[in-house]
Amino acid sequence: MRISDDRYSRDRLRFDLALRLIQHEARTSTIRVWTGLSDDRIRKLYRSYLAEDGSSELPRHRGKSPQQAAFFTRTPAIRQETAVLASVCYLLGVMPAGKVADAQRSLPGVQRGAALCEAFESYRELVPAPRISFEHAVFLIIALARSDELHAALCQDCNALIVVDRCSLPARRCGACEQSMQGRLLL
Ligand SMILES: [Zn+2]
Repeated sequence: MRISDDRYSRDRLRFDLALRLIQHEARTSTIRVWTGLSDDRIRKLYRSYLAEDGSSELPRHRGKSPQQAAFFTRTPAIRQETAVLASVCYLLGVMPAGKVADAQRSLPGVQRGAALCEAFESYRELVPAPRISFEHAVFLIIALARSDELHAALCQDCNALIVVDRCSLPARRCGACEQSMQGRLLL
């Protein structure tokens, strides 16, 4: 493969990922970090995407990225959704092996970005009314890789993956096992 072809296909992958991220309403800063494209090229992509799509405006998120680990463990329902998303991320190879202290810097990349899109799309197909945004998904995988605020564990009864918040009481069971145990206690 000639160098120019190689560069062309790498650029192609970056653009493909950027378009996918735009569709998932990722912030410009997120798209820049994961694709390596400049803000100017991302803006041009936005414009061509909107022109092609025929829609007047896509919701743009310019503010701060979500920074709340507690979001993922707030209610049993969101814990369940988080477990689904995290499981798919592990299955599709989005997550690195082992703990990564500088995950914020080392995780982003075109290949992992494409796998993350794949995982996020699967999550949205699996969950009836998904509430985790793409930006939250990015936060989740980085937090899980750092393994400081949030970490992945296995349900002690059924071995399903669960996401545990280090600041709250340690959860040992997945939502389904927790419910069936409470049911047994009530009998
Ligand atoms: Zn379980």
